[in-house]
Amino acid sequence: MRQQTLVIVKPDGLKKSLTGNILSRLSETKLRIVGAKVVKVSRELAAEHYQHLKDKPFFEDVVKYICGELHGEEYRRVLALVYDGENAIEKVRKLAGATNPETADSTSIRGQYGRLTTAGLFENVLHCSANEEDAAREIKLWFEPAEIIEDLYPTTTIEMKITKMVWK
Ligand code: ADP
Repeated sequence: MRQQTLVIVKPDGLKKSLTGNILSRLSETKLRIVGAKVVKVSRELAAEHYQHLKDKPFFEDVVKYICGELHGEEYRRVLALVYDGENAIEKVRKLAGATNPETADSTSIRGQYGRLTTAGLFENVLHCSANEEDAAREIKLWFEPAEIIEDLYPTTTIEMKITKMVWK
């Protein structure tokens, strides 16, 4: 079954210079990248992304974490990617490993590179969508249709008057 999944290299992954390692591990899946960009994550985007955790005691910390507020000013960014291909969701989840890096298989990405902070937060270096419904919601939240090189979901066109920044 052809699927898409959203992968985010989180601020700890970028700070630890793990981007190359993580992408190399993900290339084991033979999935194709159909979208990629560096994003400075706003609180609104983070809260929307983690809406399923809003009642958890660690919600505020998870929002701060993905916004890069725990890793210094120069790491207030993430790398967002969309992978496409056969059973993409399960393949990436399996490679990523369990949410808690302490219990994740030691050969998984989170097992290899993640850590449990002294404050009890799971710093697990990447996000990947959990199921098809989440994947569609997350991909539409993080990417606009034109930023993805395949037609994944139905689109519509709207007319709007815009002010846009362009190169001088
Ligand atoms: P996943 O990222 O594996 O899909 P969740 O969506 O449940 O898992 O959680 C989102 C993120 O919140 C996790 O990746 C992790 O960084 C953090 N997190 C989840 N559960 C906990 C927890 N019990 N304690 C601390 N941090 C957590």
